[in-house]
Amino acid sequence: MGMGLEEALKCVHCGFCLESCPTYVVTRSEIHSPRGRITAVKLGIDSEGLKTCMFCRKCEIACPSGVKYSEIFVNSRKSNPLERSMLRLLEKPSSLALPLKIGMGVETSLPLEYRDQNEDLIIFPGCLTSVISRSSVEKAVKYFKGLGYNVKVINTCCGLAHSHVGENKRAMDIVQKLREEFKGKTVVSLSSNCSAFMKENGLDVYDFPEFVLSKNLPLPKVNEKVTIHYPCHAHVVGIEGYIRKMAEKLGLTIMDSDDPYFECGAGGSQIFFNKQISSDVMSRKKEKVMKSGVNTVISTNPSCTLAFIKMGLKPIHLVDLL
Ligand code: SF4
Ligand code: SF4
Repeated sequence: MGMGLEEALKCVHCGFCLESCPTYVVTRSEIHSPRGRITAVKLGIDSEGLKTCMFCRKCEIACPSGVKYSEIFVNSRKSNPLERSMLRLLEKPSSLALPLKIGMGVETSLPLEYRDQNEDLIIFPGCLTSVISRSSVEKAVKYFKGLGYNVKVINTCCGLAHSHVGENKRAMDIVQKLREEFKGKTVVSLSSNCSAFMKENGLDVYDFPEFVLSKNLPLPKVNEKVTIHYPCHAHVVGIEGYIRKMAEKLGLTIMDSDDPYFECGAGGSQIFFNKQISSDVMSRKKEKVMKSGVNTVISTNPSCTLAFIKMGLKPIHLVDLL
């Protein structure tokens, strides 16, 4: 029996996960719910629902039976040729800038290449951050160099996007390659979901606010009103709390939105390939964010940042405030 099926058989179909699932919330369709997707895996059906899953893992957090949905999903999802081409671009972020600009209408730039001699700190922007938020990477380099670190920027993908579309073997090859590159170095990631994925796969990395707080690094005071979004995978591994703590330490005025954990709607690659469901979830998210009364959103993960740009909001990374 495959790993996915074994885990799927633990589901007792109670439905406690339904309201936590963004695609169920916007469709009210069992096919696009965690329970429906698990049923499809049990029956061996190639369900449309597996293609629309945002892989946010909210269902996993909600499930009282401890069903590891992600295990079922990554072992059942099958990638298509378009998704596989996207993955090749993500592995070389410099090739992402133009397609992203044309396809999504967002401002992009080439990744920052930077390396000091005898680097002791690796900055891992994450593939999308490298091209949609080059200025955030520049800020991070300046901040750490100002504190005396020797820095190297590594522009590549962590493998999370691969695992989302069922290319788990390739995802693990990428993790292994990173393990070798990171050996003996302190690694700070600027993309919270990448940080979470790498941590879950045994890599010793810090998410940016986690590093700043655990090393008690100096911070300026920033007089701005913001609301906060907690990226989904960061929530699964429990590192999202650092985002709020760092925002508080910066002196930001934090306005609460309705359910800051609610999925942004990017859903990994759904923002590119399943535009309708992605846009429906984004609309729901925007309503929730607007309840905060501000449109500046702390977003420490790039696909969420893309979603907030699409919503007409103003996403900023914590590093942008330094
Ligand atoms: S995944 Fe968990 S919460 Fe959802 S139906 Fe199955 S047992 Fe219930
Ligand atoms: S991972 Fe997210 S979108 Fe997929 S079934 Fe679970 S809650 Fe729904």
